[in-house]
Amino acid sequence: MASFLDRKKVLVLGAMGRSGKAITELLTDCGAVVAITDTNTDGNPPVPVEKDFRPAQGLDLLDEFKPDVLVTAPGIPFSLPIFEAAESRGIEVYGEMDLSFRIMEERGAHPYVFAITGTDGKSTSVSLLEHLVRGLRFAPSVVACGNIGLPLSQVILDGTPDLLVVECSSFQLERIHYFHAQSASILNLADAHLDRYESIQEYGEAKVNIGLYQGSFDLLVLSEDFPSLPGLSRLHGRIERLDVQSFAPSVENLLERLPIPGQHNRWNLMFCLRMLQDYFQRNGMIWEDYVPDLESAIANFRGLPHRMEIVAQKNGLLFINDSKATTIQSALVAFHSFENRPLHLLMGGLDKHSDFHAFAGGHARIYPFGQAGRRVAEHTGAEECFETLEEAFYSACEHAHASLPALQTNQENGPVILLSPGCASQDAYKNYEERGKHFRELAESYK
Ligand code: ADP
Repeated sequence: MASFLDRKKVLVLGAMGRSGKAITELLTDCGAVVAITDTNTDGNPPVPVEKDFRPAQGLDLLDEFKPDVLVTAPGIPFSLPIFEAAESRGIEVYGEMDLSFRIMEERGAHPYVFAITGTDGKSTSVSLLEHLVRGLRFAPSVVACGNIGLPLSQVILDGTPDLLVVECSSFQLERIHYFHAQSASILNLADAHLDRYESIQEYGEAKVNIGLYQGSFDLLVLSEDFPSLPGLSRLHGRIERLDVQSFAPSVENLLERLPIPGQHNRWNLMFCLRMLQDYFQRNGMIWEDYVPDLESAIANFRGLPHRMEIVAQKNGLLFINDSKATTIQSALVAFHSFENRPLHLLMGGLDKHSDFHAFAGGHARIYPFGQAGRRVAEHTGAEECFETLEEAFYSACEHAHASLPALQTNQENGPVILLSPGCASQDAYKNYEERGKHFRELAESYK
């Protein structure tokens, strides 16, 4: 059967990124006549295309190519004038993930879909859930995809598995027509991305879209404190707030096996377990039968690099790389994860005028560094301010080390040297990965 895209003219915006390339190839596979554009003029698209308009982005592309469909890669905001112009001309507008979902269903593939969104913890939870499903004794095929880095269009090209665990950014959910998940979660909501959204409500509403096309059997799990946004009343699925007080004891034997630090990672695990329970129930599987599989999978989960990652443990000190904590919210959860241990916290980076007062007067000694260092010091009362991460690192080690004789320490309660910067990295690094790698190297070579 020919695809609904067969011989349709499709323009791909942002075609040279990973999602853009994969959707270009998938569209070609569907028989579409594809044109591309991107600000990046390097390299070639993965397959020959009808027209390559790079780097043009103007509205005249619509008149020149006359597309039936406009597809955009996740990074490109729907607020660009070309989208409004396209809609006023009757052109269908899709995001890459949403269109891929439609193509997947058209091809008769109906995997069980788990979807996860939230401000923080998406990638950790998505990879944790993928890991748990992989550990089930009947070994279903499962792939983690979406915002975590593997585009859904690429998954379809490679062959759709039995289950998908899809990470959805709020941008990917902004405008969906088809995407839906049998079991979905919104992990949390904090005031991030307010450069792209007018208000936290608007940002939250984009996240609520994750449930927009769910049916009455489908489940949406929310955090207890998720606001009662008007959008929730438009949903048709079962909406459940994860009641941690009553849920945690029922899965305590599983939670206590999680080797990665932080209360927030226990929350992430609870969301994963609740969605798994739902999957089991819907498939007539008995939870207790699989608890041993889950126990061993949880115990083996190593987490993701740069997220509360234990990088070294030596000379009585524990070194944790949480370089991905680029927001105040994510740095705060790290900060609160070590209330029972002497904490030496390295904070700073690109200065975005954030408010660091929440870290003042607490249990941690703070070592501000980088462009935002001065602001961190002012808000937290830290005495010293360091030019670089490296200087902050050595000062933290020195103080932590000097404190050791006075402490009755063992592996469980010794000092922690934590990089949880609460800032983006681009004042001194290419990205948070490079910053985290630097921290890891410093920790590994520390004597
Ligand atoms: P995302 O994919 O949503 O950016 P990550 O899993 O990459 O989330 O984690 C980003 C940062 O947020 C890390 O510093 C991590 O330790 C922290 N984090 C993880 N889970 C949570 C959570 N549930 N609440 C708040 N912060 C979290």
